Amino acid sequence: MKKPSILVTNDDGIHGPGLRPLIAAMRRVGKVIAVVPDQERSADSHSLTLHKPIRVYHMTPGLTAVSGSPADCARFGVVWMLKGKVDLLVSGINRGYNLGEDIIYSGTVAAAREARILGVPAIAFSQDQDVDSFALAADFACAMARQTLRRGLPTGVILNVNFPPPRGRSFRGARAARLGRRIYSNAISRRSDPRGRTYYWLGGAKARWVKKPGTDVTAVADGFVSVTPLHLDQTDDPMLDLLKKWDL
Ligand code: MN
Repeated sequence: MKKPSILVTNDDGIHGPGLRPLIAAMRRVGKVIAVVPDQERSADSHSLTLHKPIRVYHMTPGLTAVSGSPADCARFGVVWMLKGKVDLLVSGINRGYNLGEDIIYSGTVAAAREARILGVPAIAFSQDQDVDSFALAADFACAMARQTLRRGLPTGVILNVNFPPPRGRSFRGARAARLGRRIYSNAISRRSDPRGRTYYWLGGAKARWVKKPGTDVTAVADGFVSVTPLHLDQTDDPMLDLLKKWDL
């Protein structure tokens, strides 16, 4: 069988700690190229660079840096570099979870979504930010990639995978899970810079986890890898029905 063609990206940028472990793992599965933002682009969500040039830097064979967003990288890799001949895009391994509402902000998930819009099956991988167990996560990613290539994914569906801290030398297991909730602080800090000018900083301490059964949040809290299928179609069916009673 022909070697599958795999595109790797990572919103933590060219120096992201999970990039090289994921590239190495994917090389065990197929032919790999990596197209990655030239700097940290976490929480960039699904932005596309449409109003300024994109610069492209070929770093080492198979590794290209782009002055764009994670979604730009997915698009550039699929359309330009691989001319649509891509069997799978993998995004990550992100430093920090993408659980619950995180997926709205996540550049890691957005890159996977952008590939799926272009018809390419895609998986996003993220890991607890306080651990350094990328090799273990990469082994799991390798198995997930193989299985995804073999089974395929339904149209418009991507997988979102999160790795908890390992217990000893392995994960406790893996769970299929739905999106849960992580509630972030509403803090906005007001400070002064060294020149006396005021600036603001969004966000505060760690998120609060809502431990509802069957969710990604609960799976990783219990030591399991979470695997969540996400759909590009965000239509809410119950509300679509309710709208029939509205005056539209
Ligand atoms: Mn990131």
